[in-house]
Amino acid sequence: MEFQAETKQLLDIVTHSLYTDKEVFLRELISNASDACEKLRHVQSATTTKFVDNDRPLEIQIELDEVASSLTIRDTGIGMTSEDIVSNLGTIARSGSKQFMKTVQEQQQANAAKGIIGKFGVGFYSAFMVADSVTVTSKTAIIDHENDNNNNVTMWTSDGTGTYELAEIDENSTATRYDIGTTVTLFLKEEYWGLLAEKKIKEVLQKYSNFVSFPIYVNGERV
Ligand code: ADP
Ligand code: MG
Repeated sequence: MEFQAETKQLLDIVTHSLYTDKEVFLRELISNASDACEKLRHVQSATTTKFVDNDRPLEIQIELDEVASSLTIRDTGIGMTSEDIVSNLGTIARSGSKQFMKTVQEQQQANAAKGIIGKFGVGFYSAFMVADSVTVTSKTAIIDHENDNNNNVTMWTSDGTGTYELAEIDENSTATRYDIGTTVTLFLKEEYWGLLAEKKIKEVLQKYSNFVSFPIYVNGERV
């Protein structure tokens, strides 16, 4: 599928900007994982929403794979349906991005954006500053009886240029079982392979994600 035109423009700016502090991508992805855990906690306490029984603890796991050169952020939060993924990751409905693009358009040229990008949370797309490609796999916690979506796991993949791929996995027809929540895997650009060291990731977490209220694990170890 094609990204919305404005999204393409935003991705291009984020990916090619001179934004020096590339490590903020981790803060953005951890904060999304934390928001997702918070949302699940919220719907579980609301009586009107039906959600899939889930007794897993709300937590965030980071896995570093030196063989695949990948960094994975996994959460046991609310998850997304395929519709959620298309609207959340394929368009720039969110306010921070909208405001950013408005400012870019007002300044008439993308170059001007380099100076202002740090003032806006670039969110999920910041993953493309350090990754050649990103895969998001998600399973929603919300029961939708009409659409019977709860056996569907959605997988979204993009290299952050013009398009993304979307695939639906029917859990009933595979041997693999998926947990509720979201997994974001970044296949790192070679210049960021240093991030595959546990020590380095722990430093970045210390710097940016010190106040996250859910437990964070790095390769299975609580940090
Ligand atoms: P923001 O967090 O400011 O809304 P992002 O670009 O960081 O913007 O994320 C866009 C949207 O994608 C989020 O609002 C959320 O709906 C969805 N999203 C991103 N990551 C996750 C996740 N790990 N679990 C559930 N939803 C997510
Ligand atoms: Mg965010």
